[in-house]
Amino acid sequence: MKRFRTRALHVGSRPDPATGAHVTPVYRTSTFAYGSFDRGARMFAGEESGYVYTRIGNPTVRVFEEKLASLEGAEDAVAFASGMAAIAALTLTFLQPGDELAFLGPLYGGTEGLFLETLARFGIQVRDVSEEPPAAWVGPKTRMLYVETPTNPTLRIHDLAQVGEVGRAHGVLTVADNTFATPYLTRPLEFGLDVVVHSATKYLGGHGDAIGGVVAGPGEMMQELRMHGLRHVGGAMSPEDAFLFMRGIKTLALRMEAHCDGAEAVAAYLARHPAVARVYYPGLPQHPGHEVAARQMDRYGGMVALELHGGFDAARVFLDGLELFTQAVSLGDVESLATHPASTTHELLPPEVLERQGITPGLVRLSVGIEDPRDLTEDLEQALARVERSLVS
Ligand SMILES: *Cc1c(COP(=O)(O)O)cnc(C)c1O
Repeated sequence: MKRFRTRALHVGSRPDPATGAHVTPVYRTSTFAYGSFDRGARMFAGEESGYVYTRIGNPTVRVFEEKLASLEGAEDAVAFASGMAAIAALTLTFLQPGDELAFLGPLYGGTEGLFLETLARFGIQVRDVSEEPPAAWVGPKTRMLYVETPTNPTLRIHDLAQVGEVGRAHGVLTVADNTFATPYLTRPLEFGLDVVVHSATKYLGGHGDAIGGVVAGPGEMMQELRMHGLRHVGGAMSPEDAFLFMRGIKTLALRMEAHCDGAEAVAAYLARHPAVARVYYPGLPQHPGHEVAARQMDRYGGMVALELHGGFDAARVFLDGLELFTQAVSLGDVESLATHPASTTHELLPPEVLERQGITPGLVRLSVGIEDPRDLTEDLEQALARVERSLVS
């Protein structure tokens, strides 16, 4: 098998059979001609494969799916209109009323809403096992064990090998949201998990210009997911977006190395700064998940969080003082982004949940882009100087 960087370019890509076009064309079509009465009948009888309708499958989207499956080491993959569409389709396809979904979080906000509000209305029990020992993760009704690692926003690390082991021992479907790490840094299937989900919107796309999602896993499961979660729920990825994600994946390896270079420099710089009370980066030896991260990640990713001594006011001065980091949600773009979870994404959570998740008034999350790391640390330096001046005055 060819190596990651080579597969990112070549898997699935082939010159267009009709024209020889070297780059996979955008097949902007809703429907596909059968060619003949008999072929149409054979395709609907499942005796012949072929494209029928873009909600269920499209040649441009298919190349993206093949690429992603290869990068995750999975048999197959199914693409969706967003990360949330992917996670919703996955849970709606494989869970039913009375089943329990156990998760290791904290979860991405949209996922938490889906699990605790939407799925709960359909009789699916949801249980947070983040603080439980592995022996308590699976109960009699647990059908799915869902994990995010590293998690948002404090980069908590969960042990994928342990999740895979518990899942296999109990015959429970194990799912990892691999959005933060990407398959370049972590491949959850290598640790025995069954299925990987992604918000392709983040690092896979990498340029902040498209929304998409994807699920990768065993071939039969992916076929079932396509025929239920995609065909019936309908959150299909558009061929234009698939084109952008493939363009993004061509440079995923190069971008992730640059994101990691930047994040390492930023984390090391912040860890030495007197205005900073705490830095969260799994690559730092003092991070509580560092050892596990070292086992399951090739490098430690592009996300860094920091806690400022001055709390809420310091965070405001700091964020407004940043020049290269744009204040916005999302992550994984080539440009650096910064957010203040307590006043934005996590604003609605009760104080005890915020405290448990480490979301203090002084917490800032950085998505470190691929700018020159020296420019990034200089930007942080001048913004932190503003914080120090504002605290003195
Ligand atoms: C963004 C994100 C999602 C949701 O993906 P969308 O593409 O925004 O629907 C799910 N999980 C994680 C970890 C994310 O960061």
